[in-house]
Amino acid sequence: MNGKQKVLSFLFRKRRVIQVLSLAFLVMIPILNVLKITFVTGNYYSLRIWKIEFVDPLFALQDFLLTLSLNRTLLLGLIIPVGIAFFAGKIFCSFICPYNLLAEWLRKIFPGKGRVYPVHSRRYWGILVGWLILAALAGFPILYFVSMPGQIGVFFSDLIFLKMVGTESLIIVVLLALDVVVFNRIWCRELCPVGALLQRFHYKKGLIVSYSEMDCVCSMNETESPCVMRCPIHINPKSNKIYPSCFNCGECVKECYFYGEALKMNFMNLTANLTPRYQLRKEEPIKKEEM
Ligand code: SF4
Ligand code: SF4
Repeated sequence: MNGKQKVLSFLFRKRRVIQVLSLAFLVMIPILNVLKITFVTGNYYSLRIWKIEFVDPLFALQDFLLTLSLNRTLLLGLIIPVGIAFFAGKIFCSFICPYNLLAEWLRKIFPGKGRVYPVHSRRYWGILVGWLILAALAGFPILYFVSMPGQIGVFFSDLIFLKMVGTESLIIVVLLALDVVVFNRIWCRELCPVGALLQRFHYKKGLIVSYSEMDCVCSMNETESPCVMRCPIHINPKSNKIYPSCFNCGECVKECYFYGEALKMNFMNLTANLTPRYQLRKEEPIKKEEM
């Protein structure tokens, strides 16, 4: 592995740590603000760190649909999120969004039936268009209620500032329960307008998962392949149609390291395996003399 591949692999190996830090960050913001420390304010709708603004593109688009005017601060705040989405797709979802972390944890308690779902690209984009039409017709910021990263931030600030939570926080609980226990993660796979809008910016040669059938040593039965079983949103990484649903978490690629290394992460001209926490291959245990 060269230096760039090692950096990519390291980043993905630390995904869970980054997710937990992201959740802790959301909790810390209102605590710091209560203590009158204000170099960081906001949440995942709109965040300010020193003078750097980050704005959820869905939040900005909804503002435009409702006011039919462009807000300069919101526009400036789009630069970094849109730039990241351009190069890495929905990586916000797999590394930062607290909803996904909670759903992944909940999935460990309710593992489900191991079903695999096809990705319907047209349906995915149709649902996003539906959300935007709804926002334009509703006349009030309806997408505010279904933007889970933002809602979870509001939940923590209400709790810390007001010592109570708004009834809209119930949406988080109901959605999490239905999504994980009943619908096998349909929210992130097909319905979430935040992830869908981020995916709109994804550049084809940016970060993607690739699959080489020739290197695959696993079962052709898609539900039995280790990489398929590992996917948090129940899609088949061996299909050549994982986008726009795939959020580039890299879990399937890490799992494939133990088998044929048929799945790889590609970024521009860089192709890399992702090494998991421990690097022992199930197929080829490291021999003593090699250690
Ligand atoms: S799809 Fe939506 S809820 Fe799921 S991880 Fe992305 S932003 Fe969060
Ligand atoms: S296909 Fe792979 S990278 Fe994409 S969401 Fe599933 S496990 Fe993550």
